[in-house]
Amino acid sequence: MIRFNVPPFTGKEYEYIKKAVDNQKICGDGEFTAKCNEWLQEKTGTKKALLTTSCTHATELAAILADIQPGDEVIMPSYTFVSTADAFVLRGATAVFVDIRPDTMNIDEKLIEQAITPKTKAIVPVHYAGVGCEMDAIMEIAAKYNLQVIEDAAQGIMSSYKGKALGTFGEFGCFSFHETKNFSMGEGGALLIRDEKDIEQAEIVREKGTNRAKFFRGQIDKYTWVDKGSSYLPSELNAAYLYAQLELADEITSDRLKTWNHYRDGFSALAAEGRIELPFIPEHCTHNAHMFYIKARDLEERTALISHLKANDILAVFHYVPLHSAPAGERFGRFAGEDKFTTKESERLLRLPLYYGLKEDQTEYIIEKVKEFYR
Ligand SMILES: *Cc1c(COP(=O)(O)O)cnc(C)c1O
Repeated sequence: MIRFNVPPFTGKEYEYIKKAVDNQKICGDGEFTAKCNEWLQEKTGTKKALLTTSCTHATELAAILADIQPGDEVIMPSYTFVSTADAFVLRGATAVFVDIRPDTMNIDEKLIEQAITPKTKAIVPVHYAGVGCEMDAIMEIAAKYNLQVIEDAAQGIMSSYKGKALGTFGEFGCFSFHETKNFSMGEGGALLIRDEKDIEQAEIVREKGTNRAKFFRGQIDKYTWVDKGSSYLPSELNAAYLYAQLELADEITSDRLKTWNHYRDGFSALAAEGRIELPFIPEHCTHNAHMFYIKARDLEERTALISHLKANDILAVFHYVPLHSAPAGERFGRFAGEDKFTTKESERLLRLPLYYGLKEDQTEYIIEKVKEFYR
């Protein structure tokens, strides 16, 4: 059976976890968390990166820092994971869904302006498959209407738009290190903070509303409860696991890209015949091979293709059920404009196995079985 995903593992994780245990520091913000934060800052060029317990939590943290209040509206695509909306809905906001572009499956930047109302507080672009949204246009709209931008860059680590790392355009950017992402710590994520002025408050909210971070830096004598907050810092054991992969980030990414390119080349003839569609990478975007998908003609064809692959021991999966058509989406959100592509394209898209260490002959076998289906 070729699995859809195998969590990334380099071999060094055991050593680093052992080191964390030997350090007798297994709670948050020890040596490995600091190393991961520094790596993220250096790699992305952001002012500050803070590891969190998940991307969901990083987004919740961003929603608190952005001061999202009940009644506010937040613009986002409907074609995304639930957390994109949930983090804002938890604060009492309404999710306002905008249609996607069928080429990248990202929010259609040209449809954002029509969704803005006096209640709009933020725009949340989701960089689907690690391919950048049109950030120039989005940042321009945000500036014009005085809106905050919180990037759901859960899939976007190591990717860039016009040479700038995804997650560093908006006030806040959120990464995921879930086991299905390019680099993992089991469950985990990171918050990227663009502006100096937001750093102190972010540290406070992440640490149960205390100024503990300042205390550890020796800036104050004792720490105390200074504001509302929660606990968004991961254990050192998780950070140690992640750091082993960050050290090998280039190797992991190039291994994934090799598989991605193999798929693309293998399917080029089928795509040229118009039987399937392949992912589109805009010229000004550099991607991280987070995902390889193909689009079948329609839902029926996709269902048959999944069965064919399964019968050949290949696990291919689809996502997402558009949020506006989910029960909670109906309660906490609304679609602004027409759903031209969100539902239609979501029903055609199929993700193929792609993970660090997937073998060339396995990729070849998968390509062959898809081709066989279309013969
Ligand atoms: C994975 C993912 C998330 C959630 O990440 P967690 O770390 O599991 O909370 C959010 N948004 C998108 C687009 C994702 O792919």
